[in-house]
Amino acid sequence: MQVTELSFSSLSEYLQFCPLKYYFRKVLHLEPEFLSAEMIYGSGFHKAVEAYFRAQLENKTVSADELMVLFCKSFEDPKIRYNGTGKQEMIDEAFILIKLVMDLPIGKVLGVEVPITIPVSKDFQIIGYIDLVTEENGKRMITDWKTCKKRPNPADVAQNMQLSTYNLAYPDADLRIAAVLKQKKPAVEFYPTSRTYDQRKRVVKTFCAVKQAIEANQWYPREGWWCDGCGYQSQCRKEY
Ligand code: SF4
Repeated sequence: MQVTELSFSSLSEYLQFCPLKYYFRKVLHLEPEFLSAEMIYGSGFHKAVEAYFRAQLENKTVSADELMVLFCKSFEDPKIRYNGTGKQEMIDEAFILIKLVMDLPIGKVLGVEVPITIPVSKDFQIIGYIDLVTEENGKRMITDWKTCKKRPNPADVAQNMQLSTYNLAYPDADLRIAAVLKQKKPAVEFYPTSRTYDQRKRVVKTFCAVKQAIEANQWYPREGWWCDGCGYQSQCRKEY
């Protein structure tokens, strides 16, 4: 199999989570047995935030209730599996968090889900979408939304490969993670960071290494906390 392009989400699925899951999902195109409610929460929240900033970009208004309709749509799939937190509890929490996002001091919106393409060689490119590009204090700012239970630690922010990837496309832009904290007291916090030339070079080399591993059919299980939310557990047990 020749890999001609790789997105950060594919890289992350292979490298930061599990190569075998990548194989089941992206190569064999197997349907998962279930979908993790936490994952659905994250993607539903992203859709709601995207709709909010897209409305700003188009000089339209959208209410928190309308954004919640979008969020709740994600929970219609009968294959969702809940683990501890129920659907209504998640919806109530997301409503608070959406309102916090709407109150954030964000500059002028320049782009939402902005596509990026970084040519690496004549037959390989890095692709992706940037959540939000704004103009703040006369500078371009790139924001990546992360729904999480814990505050990101400084080392994770300083080395986050997703922001390094975006920085390849916009080396002069400021970068930050917007952490959407699903805690007892929900909060949304910014974590600014920057990248060096060496970090950009390193991330390109990492993309090339993962491309080679996929082309060489390097599939193996990488177990961790993420296995709880993996819909390929039975298939995984059959293979290993
Ligand atoms: S159960 Fe864990 S190790 Fe197995 S495929 Fe899923 S994520 Fe990978």
